[in-house]
Amino acid sequence: MAIICGPILAWISSLLIYGFGQAVDDLNFIAGEIQSKNQNKQSVKEKKRIKAIATKLKTEDFDQECYVDFACPLCGEAISYTEEQIKSNKVLSCPECCEEFYVKDVFSV
Ligand SMILES: [Zn+2]
Repeated sequence: MAIICGPILAWISSLLIYGFGQAVDDLNFIAGEIQSKNQNKQSVKEKKRIKAIATKLKTEDFDQECYVDFACPLCGEAISYTEEQIKSNKVLSCPECCEEFYVKDVFSV
């Protein structure tokens, strides 16, 4: 069954793919036509859209800044710093007791 059906199915699917390809080509052509007519309008719109996405990404990046919670080695209060601050500073100061401590005392970086 599979031996007989195989080639027939392949033939039918190749016809379908060809037909589909044609349709996609036609659509691309139509889309291209529409786009060239609205190009000026569209590019301004597109720029605005890209700008909006860029702004959104920036705020999301800010929101996603990774905070690390840990206990102050001096007073034991729970404090948090961003991963960035922890990586780029050797010494941090605790906002609770205002004492400075070495990052390496808390994290084995
Ligand atoms: Zn402290």
